[in-house]
Amino acid sequence: MNIILLGAQGSGKGTLAKRIKADFGLVPISTGDLFRQSIANGQPLGLEAKKYMDRGELVPLDLTLKILTERIKLGDCAKGVILDGFPRSIEQAEALKKVLKIDSVICLELSKEQCMERMLARRICPKCGATYSTLLGDGDTCTKCGVSLVRRDDDNPDAIKTRLEVYEKMTTPLINFYSDRLLKVSADVSPEEVYKPVKDFLSKLGGKK
Ligand code: ADP
Ligand code: ZN
Repeated sequence: MNIILLGAQGSGKGTLAKRIKADFGLVPISTGDLFRQSIANGQPLGLEAKKYMDRGELVPLDLTLKILTERIKLGDCAKGVILDGFPRSIEQAEALKKVLKIDSVICLELSKEQCMERMLARRICPKCGATYSTLLGDGDTCTKCGVSLVRRDDDNPDAIKTRLEVYEKMTTPLINFYSDRLLKVSADVSPEEVYKPVKDFLSKLGGKK
């Protein structure tokens, strides 16, 4: 079973992906994380992508498809994947058709103001990439690595504004594109409450092991 998580920045896709992984064994794949790893490793693809990321713009399709398909080829994806942050445009969704069969799409709904607030509160571990939030009362060091948390380079007001505009313009048309297999969930509640309807939905699809 392969699923897509849609939802604006800060709507909690990464948090939801972790829960789905725990119960259903699907592998979360975040194109943003893949790019950040590539940057951290000093790879040319990542360094090229960073120019777009720092401005909050979409990375061109060829680079994005390359990093995604290389990840999907790895053996751990055989049981299925949770795509977080891909596709982000109709163009990407069309390209994805040739790569992977998508069973369902879950869309997290959150107001722009709340997305803003959550992104400004977001902190990440520079070593392992784990996400934290000052809104959830997290401290300022990674509980796994013990290193000091930082802000993401693109969690600044200008890039946040562009990212939300890009989401609205390029990504929301996917809600119609996938209307035949879509679950909409309000993201304005606790992570447990966001997960509840998702778990029911996926269990009915027959993914529960
Ligand atoms: P967010 O969704 O909060 O912006 P991500 O970590 O998912 O954070 O993505 C960070 C950046 O990586 C995006 O702003 C964009 O530049 C790039 N990126 C991630 N996924 C894609 C994609 N599917 N297509 C193009 N660019 C992408
Ligand atoms: Zn860490």
